[in-house]
Amino acid sequence: MSDKYKTTRTKELEFGGTLGAVILPFLLPSTVFYLIISCGTKEASVFNFPPPLPELGELWNPITFLLFLCWIGLQAAFYVCPVGKIAEGQILRDGSKLKYRINAFHAFVMTSVVVGIGLASGLHLSYIYDHFLQFAVSASVVSFVLSIFLYIKSLCVKESLLAPGGNSGNPIYDFFIGHELNPRIGSFDLKYFCELRPGLIGWVLINLAMLSKESELRGSVSTAMILVNIFQFVYVIDALWNEEAILTTMDIVHDGFGLMLAFGDLTWVPFTYSLQSYFLVNHPVELNAFAAVIITILNLLGYFIFRRANSQKNTFRRNPKDPAVADLQTIATATGKRLLVSGWWGFVRHPNYLGDLIMALAWSLPCGFTHILPYFYVIYFTVLLIHREARDEHQCRKKYGLAWEEYCKRVPYRIFPYMY
Ligand code: NDP
Repeated sequence: MSDKYKTTRTKELEFGGTLGAVILPFLLPSTVFYLIISCGTKEASVFNFPPPLPELGELWNPITFLLFLCWIGLQAAFYVCPVGKIAEGQILRDGSKLKYRINAFHAFVMTSVVVGIGLASGLHLSYIYDHFLQFAVSASVVSFVLSIFLYIKSLCVKESLLAPGGNSGNPIYDFFIGHELNPRIGSFDLKYFCELRPGLIGWVLINLAMLSKESELRGSVSTAMILVNIFQFVYVIDALWNEEAILTTMDIVHDGFGLMLAFGDLTWVPFTYSLQSYFLVNHPVELNAFAAVIITILNLLGYFIFRRANSQKNTFRRNPKDPAVADLQTIATATGKRLLVSGWWGFVRHPNYLGDLIMALAWSLPCGFTHILPYFYVIYFTVLLIHREARDEHQCRKKYGLAWEEYCKRVPYRIFPYMY
């Protein structure tokens, strides 16, 4: 049967094109290992480069690998549990819509019960701290194996199922960026599953393990560690609670599932986003009450902007007549969709990124000012979101043409008011 909804070849290559696709698969894992090894040293200094190289035994442990696989298996089992509502994704090129089970928050609750039972039975979470590098290596191996599987699978599907941005015909690029848009095994959606569950819930577990290790080492838990745990816990819970919102994000709608997302979801997020708590285990910071209050206010401000901006757009996209958004000013586009030009989206063109970045800063500040490594997240995230904003802007310009130009005139700043 002919595939009447053919995908055109991807002409505009992102992330440095083929060169980027060759370099990044080496650079990304090296960065994760470098950060963990450096952060684990007494000096935790970026000037001690290269850091002491570990022996093979410190990198690889079959038990750690097995535990990591069990973690993925546990999250997969929770994902297929028939709890939570079913939501529809965006319209695909062939006019169909995929169905998604919304149960990431349920998965978190079920995970908490399993971990709680484990702790009551004498489980030591500090094992994660003791084998942190080995877990990161295991996650990298799984990410690469999964990506190879995904690429091979993508060669067997019809063209209309390929990602608009991942069909260049160059196997290295397509492998890295993601060839198939929504790879599924039956109704098990591999990209959707990986987006939030193993990595984000894993991140909370890692932070808890760091807290537990700090308590074992020093007999108490520091304010800095508590703040980092609470801030990041709230962020993860927010993402899981609002899981349905990811169905309209670039990751789900535009990007294929390849090494970039697989590595990002399973390795990069849990093992670099938890760097602050990992750092605090070996480098205690005494935070006074005043500093703790100021940092908490900063985090709340960031969260407020992030949540309100995201909710305003999601509400508007779901139902523009909703009383919460009906009074906002909009401009029409040729696609029939409208763009918000007042409210949060009239303040800057990506208010949600602004809130996210303020929070990122608040997560690093508890680590004090003596080291740069715990600030890795906010530095990297600024670069990521500036790049992501440019990618989104490019897509919107193509989609909305003159209406987007008009929006840019009326809302001149991209992320930071009066600056950028
Ligand atoms: P966004 O939520 O920023 O969505 C961008 C889309 O919103 C555009 O493509 C357009 O899509 C729509 N849009 C843009 N401007 C307007 C407007 N004025 N009025 C109405 N709709 C508009 O996408 P992201 O996926 O980048 O971000 C989602 C959240 O995830 C953010 O808060 C971000 O900070 C966070 N994030 C976090 C990461 C992390 O690692 N912690 C990584 C990446 C993102 P359309 O018109 O088609 O609806």
